[in-house]
Amino acid sequence: MKLACLDLEGVLVPEIWINVAERTGIDDLRLTTRDIPDYDELMRHRLSVLDKHDLKLSDIQDVINDMGPLEGAGEFLDWLRQRYQVVILSDTFYEFGMPLMAHLGYPTLFCHKLAIRDDHIVDYRLRQNDQKREAVKSFHALNFKVIAAGDSYNDTSMLGEADAGILFCPPQNVIDEFPQFPVTTNYAELREAFIHADKSI
Ligand SMILES: [Mg+2]
Repeated sequence: MKLACLDLEGVLVPEIWINVAERTGIDDLRLTTRDIPDYDELMRHRLSVLDKHDLKLSDIQDVINDMGPLEGAGEFLDWLRQRYQVVILSDTFYEFGMPLMAHLGYPTLFCHKLAIRDDHIVDYRLRQNDQKREAVKSFHALNFKVIAAGDSYNDTSMLGEADAGILFCPPQNVIDEFPQFPVTTNYAELREAFIHADKSI
């Protein structure tokens, strides 16, 4: 039995923080895991910027409510779910992710939680460090093979742990640093990469 594990932002939906940066005009929020590989460093940066500008959870949720999936994401996910049990492994937070899941038929999402006080994001709680890789290890312990796809630094340990890993629309620095993973740039190529990976594992 094989599982498909997908990253969320950059693979099925746009980058949430970039949309927040564009909507609010706060360029300091544009940085993502593509730019800062250390997730804690990136989140501490984001929380300090939110605090500085007095941006609340509901402000960010307003932006998210206006975002939909990437064009073609729903069709791709339907195709994938007909062939695999699909689990989305994301380093976002349920407070951000669930409104987006509504657009995609509520697939399974493993991510993290925010700490909220009076509509302010005061901290974040990782459910587990390196949770994407730990999930793949756990699926292996359950006797599943795993094909994984993601776009960024925080996916590379998941891609490496999986039986096959695929990059989807990654930035050039990730392509250069992780040449072992095939690169896809649209959903047709990603489907082909899954078909190819499926034969090889
Ligand atoms: Mg991503």
